[in-house]
Amino acid sequence: MKQSTSNKKVAVVGAGLVGSLEACYLAKRGYDVHLYEYRDDIRNMEHVPGRSINLAMSIRGRTGLKAVGVEEKIIREHGIPMYARMIHNRDGSTKAIPYNKDGKVGVRGSKRFVPPTPFLPSQGPYIDLVPNPKNNQRHLRAVRSAIYSVGRRFVNDWVLLTRAEEFPMSPFHFHHKLLTADLERGKMTFLDTMSQDEVTVDADLMIGCDGAYSNMRKQMMKRPMFNYRQQYIPHGYMELCIPPGSDGNFQMPPNYLHIWPRGQYMMIALPNQDKSWTVTLFMPFGIFNSLDTPEVLLDFFKTNYPDAITLIGREKLIHDFFANKALPMISVKCSPYHVGSTSLLMGDAAHAMVPFYGQGMNCGMEDCVFLKEIMDKYESDERRCCPRTPSTGTQTRRRSWTSPCTTTSRLVGWCVSIVVSVMRDLVNSKLFLLRKKWDDLLSRLLPRTWVPLYTMVTFSRERYHLCIAKKRWQDEMIGKLVKVSAVAGVILGFFAAKTQAAHAFSHSLVTHLNSITTKTLDIAMR
Ligand code: FAD
Repeated sequence: MKQSTSNKKVAVVGAGLVGSLEACYLAKRGYDVHLYEYRDDIRNMEHVPGRSINLAMSIRGRTGLKAVGVEEKIIREHGIPMYARMIHNRDGSTKAIPYNKDGKVGVRGSKRFVPPTPFLPSQGPYIDLVPNPKNNQRHLRAVRSAIYSVGRRFVNDWVLLTRAEEFPMSPFHFHHKLLTADLERGKMTFLDTMSQDEVTVDADLMIGCDGAYSNMRKQMMKRPMFNYRQQYIPHGYMELCIPPGSDGNFQMPPNYLHIWPRGQYMMIALPNQDKSWTVTLFMPFGIFNSLDTPEVLLDFFKTNYPDAITLIGREKLIHDFFANKALPMISVKCSPYHVGSTSLLMGDAAHAMVPFYGQGMNCGMEDCVFLKEIMDKYESDERRCCPRTPSTGTQTRRRSWTSPCTTTSRLVGWCVSIVVSVMRDLVNSKLFLLRKKWDDLLSRLLPRTWVPLYTMVTFSRERYHLCIAKKRWQDEMIGKLVKVSAVAGVILGFFAAKTQAAHAFSHSLVTHLNSITTKTLDIAMR
């Protein structure tokens, strides 16, 4: 029987990206939503400390925004598309690596138009409308895959909180810090940080969207059978800025995610609306600490990121580096995500992950879609929505979530991850490019079957654990393919070697095939 939602009170703890979006979803469904946030209304704050300025948004986040009617505003009016990675080498040269091979643009109806290929039959095509660079009036339908650089504050404050206020819901409770929660009875105690009073609140459903260091999760940890694991990686991150050029324009081509892969270190830059770039430097804390004078810092940049000195500006680099401090990165796994039908964790509170795949916000926003789907299915009956069986609800979601979290955190921690490698090292290595060529070739031949991991994670809503399972299968297949071609090569070589004239040729062929086999097996083992 369909449950009435209007007489039910939901307390959402945390007005970050996920909490403010979830508040919109629940208010739209008719719940009496109360949003509690530790900080001040960030719309009144000059600077929000400790958080990245811009984020890469992809299909999962966009789907989350769409249902509450803000995707257009965020993506079309504000987002800057990034169609490829732009790799910066030490010598200052650059090289673009598109996200996929569908980078063709054509006029609709003309022969040059390339119809979009659905990455996955269930997900449909990923299409973008872009202005024709030659003729501003016409619009082209592009089949290029893009991720979008969006401002955290724009999305969080100006769009999501403002959108939530448009639904009939109680005024937001800022300056409310969650202290304790009785998870089964739906009671919470907050500290009102303005008056220093303790406030007790009742709710039918409490949703913890209070981030990676979630207090709601800490309350769950006191319960038996609650599993929890956190891991800090040895790397920290620091945000720097490339300002607009003297002509007021971008100093680098804007439609790229710029990457400076340097083995142990990495730097990335995402474009901002004001034509500046937010640069994020990832390095082990030991190296951050060793850069303790302006001279040492400049020497380090001259060796590793010489082009960035000019882009950021010498004085600004020194000033910003020493004015900032490197921040840690944590990944969190826990289970279950709920207590009965009264408490739930979402977003980073449930599954914080390191940012190398740009999935934390996207995954958190997809949580909101997932909960909506469950609520649709079980007609807003929280007792059925907060699941008890492995086949429904959070249990299903946890399978999806845990895999990327596990993969990301574990592999990042051990510095052998595909995730980190793609962003940090491999993106520039011959092996990575070789594997990418195999992927491109096979995905052209078998577009529905062979979808590269990054494409599945970033450009589809395929469940994360299935993405990883498919990647494993692909690795196995590549391994087999290479073995078969190596054997074929050896047999060919044997027959070719029978003739003296062919001897030299067969020798080089066999050597070549063996080398490809070794390289590809090496990749397949990763
Ligand atoms: P948060 O954004 O952390 O919000 C939690 C909210 O809860 C905050 O407002 C906080 O003040 C409030 N709160 C905390 N404790 C309490 C309490 N006790 N009581 C009341 N309120 C409380 N993700 C992407 O998808 N793409 C990217 O490109 C990307 N880049 C990133 C780059 C960096 C450097 C980092 C660190 C992360 C990046 N992420 C990215 C991840 C993304 O930032 C997070 O996944 C996302 O912010 C999670 O949203 P959330 O709402 O769950 O948590």
